[in-house]
Amino acid sequence: DELAELLGSRVRDIPDHPKPGIVFKDITPLLADPVAFGALTEALAATAGRLGATKVVGLEARGFILGAPVALAAGIGFVPVRKAGKLPGATLSQSYDLEYGSAEIEIHAEDLTADDRVLIVDDVLATGGTAEAAIGLVRRTPARLVGLAVLMELGFLPGGTRVRDALGEVPYQALLTV
Ligand code: 5GP
Repeated sequence: DELAELLGSRVRDIPDHPKPGIVFKDITPLLADPVAFGALTEALAATAGRLGATKVVGLEARGFILGAPVALAAGIGFVPVRKAGKLPGATLSQSYDLEYGSAEIEIHAEDLTADDRVLIVDDVLATGGTAEAAIGLVRRTPARLVGLAVLMELGFLPGGTRVRDALGEVPYQALLTV
């Protein structure tokens, strides 16, 4: 569709980043274009509205850049999921496997209550490992997970299948698949 075309035209490929053989999807041209950034924000805010979300949970770091304006546009709150050791208060944490080694993400336990309905937002879904860990983290809070939305899914990786399996009945949206 038109939105996907606009958004896709503002994401550029950076070969061999962060290491040889990886083609990194760089969203900074999209962020620099207020028309595209605005259209993305509106689309994700509409998703939040449709799902009755009360909080956007954004994943460090580009999920912060996308998630914060989405939360404000939808008139709801924003809660960051950060890499381990960054959040100053009492946290819940979740570790997950990377290709080599493991990583850990955290959330402030008090920021999500039993009244909250959570939409998780990130920029790119690759292997799905980060999103799957975030799904697990949110499900350990008293809040209800109502959706996962990303700008872009890398369709040549199994991330989409992986997060759909983890989500079950909870909706998943990728505005673009490449
Ligand atoms: P995954 O856990 O799905 O393998 O990787 C997704 C996470 O890594 C997301 O938080 C995303 O921001 C980042 N990521 C992985 N590959 C890319 C990429 O090509 N472009 C961007 N912008 N982020 C990526």
